[in-house]
Amino acid sequence: MKVSVSGRQFVFPRSCACCGAFPTTTLGVAGTEKNRRARTKGWTWDIPYCRACKRHVRSLEYLLLGTLAFVGISCFTGALLAIKSDQWEFGVAVTSLLLTTIALVDWLAFKLIRRSCPKNCYLTGRAVVYIGSDGACHTFDLKSPFYAADFVLANHLKIVNASVRVASILKNTKFGDYQVPRRFVKKD
Ligand SMILES: [Zn+2]
Ligand SMILES: [Zn+2]
Repeated sequence: MKVSVSGRQFVFPRSCACCGAFPTTTLGVAGTEKNRRARTKGWTWDIPYCRACKRHVRSLEYLLLGTLAFVGISCFTGALLAIKSDQWEFGVAVTSLLLTTIALVDWLAFKLIRRSCPKNCYLTGRAVVYIGSDGACHTFDLKSPFYAADFVLANHLKIVNASVRVASILKNTKFGDYQVPRRFVKKD
């Protein structure tokens, strides 16, 4: 769920953003903000996670990085062999063999990571992703619905441009549903 909030300090509810367990560690998300003089400022927010969830998020990120590197190496090796042996079929065959192996290893590694996840995990990747900013208005994508709802309630005074889903969380609360400011981007 995409949630836009205005300000610098936001409350990230004290539960693991992925599984809801008691958080014992954090994972940072980085974002930037441009001021009026077009100077860019960087921010990092610590998102609470439990240790098991931090481990599976990190493992998946390493797996993706490793995959990218190996795909590059495979293509390079294939091209090199094709040039050296002067037989492009040989290069293509080697590259496809290497790529198939990578796909197989990835599939197995993903299964292993998935198995190490706590039972209530919402997903294997990051549960909170930073999307971008417009001035001091920051947008986060909170993937797990329970964490998104907690976040909206905890930061209800800072919510801007509430989507239908965000408004539905605020409905039936004492803050009502008419207090969310709207922020328009001035085009010049
Ligand atoms: Zn967790
Ligand atoms: Zn998890």
